[in-house]
Parts: sequence; structure tokens; C-alpha cells
Amino acid sequence: PPDVEQLGRATWTFLHTTAAYYPERPTPNQRANMLNLLHSLPILYPCSHCASHLGEVMKTNPPDVSGQFALSRWLCERHNEVNERLGKKLFDCSKTDERWKDGPPD
Ligand code: FAD
Repeated sequence: PPDVEQLGRATWTFLHTTAAYYPERPTPNQRANMLNLLHSLPILYPCSHCASHLGEVMKTNPPDVSGQFALSRWLCERHNEVNERLGKKLFDCSKTDERWKDGPPD
């Protein structure tokens, strides 16, 4: 079976980076494809308990694909729910662009 920790780090990197570079004004096609990407995770993510948790939290908090800021925030909050469940430190969601897009201020 896949290494759940390594898979998780790689997947969060992909998801947060993709959200960080998602347009602030996405086209309907970009929105639809982002929704498809996110909705595919509970079905395809190769850690079944992770996938089913994600499916549950996505029912309560549907993805907000209206723009980069909202999507990055939505993803940060979902990642924090996983962090909390695993007893990890919560991430400050105001630092999302610094971590995944802009880098630290000079
Ligand atoms: P990760 O949590 O992988 O984080 C990587 C980096 O992201 C961190 O170093 C930090 O810089 C940054 N970061 C941390 N939190 C945030 C945030 N909220 N917003 C933005 N950036 C942040 N593991 C399980 O054991 N059980 C599960 O049920 C489970 N569910 C998962 C569901 C999904 C959808 C994914 C993608 C992963 C899941 N994982 C699960 C894996 C788990 O979340 C971690 O990826 C794994 O434990 C490795 O953790 P880590 O401490 O290296 O950092």
C-alpha cells in the first residue's frame, strides 16, 4: 500500500500549489475542472480512510472554486481539519500565499 505520509505531503503540495496559481477570475471551464479535480479525490485518493473522511467534510463544506483567494482558504481549512484529527499543529491560513506562492517577504 502507498506510504500515507509521503502521499499526503505530495498531494497537499500539488493541491495548495494548484490553488495558489488558480486565477482570481476563473472561466466557467476552469471552475468546472477544479470542481471535478476536488470531487474526484473522495473517489480516487489511494488512502481509503483519508478519502472517506474528505468525502464527509466536503459534504458539510463544499469546495469554493470562485477564485484563488477563496479556494486557497477553503483548502487550508480542510487541511487544518486533517491536521487537527492527526494531532498536528494548525496552519495560519493567512500565510497560505506566503507558503505556496509568494515565498517569505524580503
Ligand atoms: P502535511 O500535513 O503533509 O503538510 C505539508 C506542508 O503543508 C506542511 O509542512 C506545511 O508547510 C503546509 N501546511 C500544513 N497545513 C497547512 C494548511 N492547513 N494549509 C496550507 N498549508 C499547510 N493522514 C492520515 O494519517 N489520516 C488521514 O485521514 C489523512 N487524510 C488525508 C486527506 C487528504 C485529502 C490528504 C491530502 C492527506 C491526508 N493524510 C491523512 C495525510 C496527512 O494530511 C499528511 O500529509 C501526512 O501525515 C504528512 O504530514 P506532514 O506533517 O509531513 O505535513
